[in-house]
Amino acid sequence: MVNSKNWRPQTALVHGGTNRSQHGETSEAIYVTQGFVYDSAEAAEARFKGDEPGFIYSRYANPTVDMFEKRMCMMEGAEDARATASGMAAVHAALLCSVRAGDHVVAARALFGSCRWIIEQLMPRYGIETTLVDGTKPEAWEQAVQPNTKLFFLESPTNPTLEVVDIAHVAGIANSIGARVVVDNVFATPLQQKPLELGAHVVVYSATKHIDGQGRCLGGVVLSDKAWIDENLHDYFRHTGPSLSPFNAWTLLKGLETLPLRVRQQTESAARLAGWLACHPKVARVIYPGRNDHPQAEIIARQMTGGSTLICFDIRGGKGEAFRMSNALDLVRISNNLGDAKSLITHPATTTHKNLAADARAELGIADGTLRLSVGLEDADDLIEDMDRALATV
Ligand SMILES: *Cc1c(COP(=O)(O)O)cnc(C)c1O
Repeated sequence: MVNSKNWRPQTALVHGGTNRSQHGETSEAIYVTQGFVYDSAEAAEARFKGDEPGFIYSRYANPTVDMFEKRMCMMEGAEDARATASGMAAVHAALLCSVRAGDHVVAARALFGSCRWIIEQLMPRYGIETTLVDGTKPEAWEQAVQPNTKLFFLESPTNPTLEVVDIAHVAGIANSIGARVVVDNVFATPLQQKPLELGAHVVVYSATKHIDGQGRCLGGVVLSDKAWIDENLHDYFRHTGPSLSPFNAWTLLKGLETLPLRVRQQTESAARLAGWLACHPKVARVIYPGRNDHPQAEIIARQMTGGSTLICFDIRGGKGEAFRMSNALDLVRISNNLGDAKSLITHPATTTHKNLAADARAELGIADGTLRLSVGLEDADDLIEDMDRALATV
């Protein structure tokens, strides 16, 4: 989607991709239809041949979904996109559509649980070799390369410990061997990190998180250059059917309109809370991408334009203390979701990362006292008061 008007992001997120019907509606229309009719058999033939533009079937494309895809392309600076029913459908399609038995995939070990399952469990089942590396070690990526390496996959910042991977470095390795880099950019949001500009080839989102940001629907999107999508994703997507529903696409279009306002406000509150937590005697460690003491502050300064709406911190003690604090919270709710208008806290060791062996959790820096906080749109002073009250019970 060419941004022919050179709109700045905030404008593109309100107007990008809008395709009004003959009624001239202000807000985007929801095209709830499975199929489309043709004026003649010849017109149907021409559309199937690709000689005439137009919609064929909503599993392939739908006008409301198309608006969401085009708006995301403008935001991301991507040529093309496919929207999916969930973030995992996007990750699954992006990873599987371009590889085959005998290929090798290198991924950072700090991955969202379901993403790690695809790499560790699903791909090997189909004869795709995979290697997990410590993504924060630049040399680990190089050392994992094999003659059959075709794909690199990473998430940055990572869930839940907010580790950062040097995307330009991984892209450099990939380009030198003709491989591709897929980046799961959920934690950074499209506003605070631009993987394509850093050299990555494919970007995926769970739109469920900040893009909706109001707890309403699941969604996802894969963005890349047109050639990669035509060659790899186009047929895979059409024939496996991970399509997004028009209603959810509309919800996500509405989410995009307010994304910059929400992410800016949530990041500002998160930065304040991170600073406050770092000074609290009952907190042993705070990891926040906006702080100077983040282990990869130098890479963050180079590749991100903002901090994060998420904070990772360790309570002094272990699971008992982390549970006591979580249970004592009144405003902040216990939930494994993130990016929401409501502040949410989770204990990764017993929820999102419970399927990992204890040593794999330790490798990722997930301790028994680790909590992940997704900061919402509440007044930061109310959040600090709630956290202060809860920490006092520990
Ligand atoms: C939530 C999430 C996903 C999966 O998205 P769903 O919409 O829940 O399917 C993938 N990657 C990351 C980093 C996530 O946070």
